[in-house]
This record gives sequence, C-alpha cells and structure tokens, in this order.
Amino acid sequence: AKRNGRNRFEYFTAAMDEMARMRRTIENDLRDAISGRQLRLYYQPITDGELKTILGYEALMRWHHPQRGIILPGDFIPIAEETGLIHSLGAYALYEACREAKSWTGEQTVSVNLSPIQFKNSGLISIVEGALQESGLPPSRLEVEITESVLLDDTLGNIRTLQSLKALGVLIALDDFGTGYSSLSYLRSFPFDKIKIDKSFINDMADSREALAIIRAITGMSRSLDIQITAEGVESAEQFAKLREEGCTLFQGYLFGRPQPAETRLTSL
Ligand code: C2E
Ligand code: CA
Ligand code: CA
Ligand code: CA
Repeated sequence: AKRNGRNRFEYFTAAMDEMARMRRTIENDLRDAISGRQLRLYYQPITDGELKTILGYEALMRWHHPQRGIILPGDFIPIAEETGLIHSLGAYALYEACREAKSWTGEQTVSVNLSPIQFKNSGLISIVEGALQESGLPPSRLEVEITESVLLDDTLGNIRTLQSLKALGVLIALDDFGTGYSSLSYLRSFPFDKIKIDKSFINDMADSREALAIIRAITGMSRSLDIQITAEGVESAEQFAKLREEGCTLFQGYLFGRPQPAETRLTSL
C-alpha cells in the first residue's frame, strides 16, 4: 500500500512537472509571439435587428504559433495576465485594432477587450490616446469592452480611469453581463454605452426559464436607462427572433459571421 501511495504521488508530481513545463513553454513562446508578429486580431461583425448593416466588429485575438497552429485566447490570455505580458499584448491589440479600423471605408466601430489587469497600469489612458493619435481613428469609433471585475477591484481608481476614457470620446461596453457577481447596481456606478449579455444566457434561453428571465430583466432595465443591449453568441434564427422580441438591439454570433482575419473580414451580411 505504501509503495502504491508513493507511486501515485510520483505520478502526481510528474503530471505537475509536466504542467509547469508546459506553462513555461507557453510563457516563453508568448514573449516571442509579441515580437515575432504571431498575434493576430480576428474581426467578428456586430449588426442591428434589421440585418442590413454591420455597425462594428469585435477584435478577438488569435495566436498563430509556428508549431502548434492557431491558439485561442482562452489558452493564453490567463497566462499573459499572470505574467504581466498582458500589458504589451493589450497595447498591441489597441494599436492594431485602431490602425485596422482606420483603413475601413465605412464608419464601423471596433471593439477591443481590456483585461482588468490592464487597469493596474497607470499608463492605460496614454496607450489608448497613443493608439488613437497614431492611427487617426476618431475616438467615437473605438469601443473598449470591460468585465464587471474592473468594478470590483480598486473601484474608485478604475471608475476614474473609465471616466478618463469616456472623456476621450471612447465608447465603453460592459461585457459578459449576467455572469459573476453581476449586480444591477454596477450600472449606476458608471454610464456604460452598451451591455453585452453573456452568450451562456443566449445558449440556455430556449430551455431555461431562469436564463430567459435574466435576459428580460436586463433588457427591461436597459430601456429605462437608455443603454444598448448586445446579444452575443447568437447561433440560430430562433434565438435571433426571440432576442429581438425581448428588446435586444445589437447582435453578434456565428449566425451572422465568425471572427475572421482582417484580410477576409466580412463586409456584408
Ligand atoms: P468574449 O469577449 O466574451 O468574446 C466572445 C467570444 O465568443 C469569442 O471567443 C468569440 O469567438 C465567441 N463567439 C462569438 N460568437 C459566437 C457564437 O455564436 N457561438 C459561440 N459558441 N461562440 C461565439 P474567443 O475569440 O475564443 O475569445 C474568448 C475570450 O478571450 C473573449 O471572450 C475575451 O474575454 C478574451 N479575449 C479575446 N481577445 C482578447 C484581447 O485582445 N484581449 C483580452 N484581454 N482578452 C481577449
Ligand atoms: Ca468581449
Ligand atoms: Ca462577452
Ligand atoms: Ca466571455
């Protein structure tokens, strides 16, 4: 029994070692990725209820790893956040998205995800200003997407940062709404331009009364607060019809288009 125990322990340590090695590899590779131009932004359209126009695009990062192929953000953003690499990665996203959006013929907005860690950098505002200045993109065409964790941590400091962003003329969206602590009182702490309902609610809405009730609560409140609601992760025509009926005004999801590289960005629906 003793020997068995030790074996299990050895297996366990070996697995831990392997995981740690893997993380170090990703971490080292990620440093090269930034300098080696392996990070790309993919653009996913956001449309209105009439489906006639694309109003904007969300920029979503992909890592084109020379050996491993395309890596999704879920597999490298958390490591970038833990190592602090998110600061350079996030600055890259802002500069690149603004430069790209400036090249579009239309007036569509570009939405960039900001990590809560980026709010710990007092230089965030000047990075956003720099991205706008260097690209020449009007601030009203840049939107940043933040999650509610930004409002939980260093609340006053972060709200000041959001106010400075707003003063620049940048739009601010509250992402993944309904997940986490999601208190409706967050909506009083800052005048968000948009709320994005998390795709898990859209996914569950047909079978879950709770999911539908939450969507209704959010759209009901948005009407009185005059905030636009984006439904994300819309995959079916049924979901789209129902969400329109419930009062969502903006839509994003595979039904309309998947995230695409800049070169093949969807320009019509
Ligand atoms: P998010 O901001 O909630 O982005 C929406 C995610 O839903 C994206 O996943 C998108 O590809 C996916 N999606 C869009 N439509 C559909 C649909 O109809 N069905 C399904 N199942 N999924 C859909 P993605 O691209 O893997 O990104 C995951 C997360 O990584 C993002 O979630 C965001 O939190 C983070 N992320 C992506 N790019 C960046 C970035 O440049 N900076 C930071 N800080 N985070 C990023
Ligand atoms: Ca987002
Ligand atoms: Ca989201
Ligand atoms: Ca999400």
